[in-house]
Amino acid sequence: MFERFEVIRNAEMRQYTTLKLGGPADWLAFPRSGDEIAAMFAEAGQAGIPVTVIGQGSNLLVLDGGIRGLVIRVGRNMRGIRQEGNRLVVRAGTMLCAAANAAADAGLSGLEFASGIPGTVGGGMTMNAGAYGGEMADVTFRVDGVRPDGTPVSLGREEMQFGYRTSAVKKLDFIVTEATLELQPGNPEAIHARMNELNAMRAEKQPLDVPSAGSTFKRPDGYYAAALIDQCGLKGYSIGEARVSMKHAGFLINTGSSSRDYLELVQYVQKIVRERAGVLLEPEIRIIGEPEGGE
Ligand SMILES: Cc1cc2nc3c(=O)[nH]c(=O)nc-3n(C[C@H](O)[C@H](O)[C@H](O)COP(=O)(O)OP(=O)(O)OC[C@H]3O[C@@H](n4cnc5c(N)ncnc54)[C@H](O)[C@@H]3O)c2cc1C
Repeated sequence: MFERFEVIRNAEMRQYTTLKLGGPADWLAFPRSGDEIAAMFAEAGQAGIPVTVIGQGSNLLVLDGGIRGLVIRVGRNMRGIRQEGNRLVVRAGTMLCAAANAAADAGLSGLEFASGIPGTVGGGMTMNAGAYGGEMADVTFRVDGVRPDGTPVSLGREEMQFGYRTSAVKKLDFIVTEATLELQPGNPEAIHARMNELNAMRAEKQPLDVPSAGSTFKRPDGYYAAALIDQCGLKGYSIGEARVSMKHAGFLINTGSSSRDYLELVQYVQKIVRERAGVLLEPEIRIIGEPEGGE
């Protein structure tokens, strides 16, 4: 199966997620284009094999049993940036920090907020990734992609239905292949300086030296997840090899190799915060794959 593509059989997903967790994917493929993505879906469809699309894996908890079927990673083979006036046309596998640096070098402002988000442009569009008062919605001009049946998709900003950490990508069921970002002229040095400043703030507040998927939970209306978790006495709390970060209680970090511990900790934190603070924390991370010993 999938021999004509760049593919790894039984790929340990812990090597492809920032949480460093997750069992094997039956096949892990690295497409070069939207056409290849469509061809992969077609081959999988004919064989009745399920397909999962990922980017850099920086917002994912993959369970210990791994992922059945084909995982398509829109990443290293789909990178590239070109400038068109005040716009940058960026392929979906490009890392957000590379796009932000290219924008700064070109004297284009607006993407500074994204320079420290360790995901791809495709993942960023799917999640409407954001930080420090900015989000992908603010800089989006157009998003191009392909549906599993191979039909091309091209959506303007309004059609992307951006919301807090969500967009139309999942609802309309397509794979992002390229994004056109609209930015404003600015001074390259000032833009780089702002990015350095934001990244220094990030390094001071967040546990960047240990495996995580960033903020584990969405921000509940009217609250901060980290403050609630801290107030409930859960800072530093651990279950097996999963721990609530001492540095930032909104980050649940991984110190070992078990997704089971991590998932248990997510559920425990939800339960305690609900009981003690009356607030339901909704995971921001996407949980995929099979539990250990799963079907
Ligand atoms: C240390 C750290 C800090 C972080 N800080 C932030 C932050 O400040 N703000 C923030 O918003 N997030 C943050 N994150 C979370 C994460 O980086 C973002 O959600 C990012 O946008 C995910 O991109 P990704 O390429 O890793 O996507 P993945 O994690 O691989 O996938 C996320 C979702 O997007 C889908 N997807 C990915 N690529 C595509 C594509 N090409 N087409 C269709 N669907 C796709 C996947 O199916 C999945 O549902 C942080 C994570 C870490 C580890």
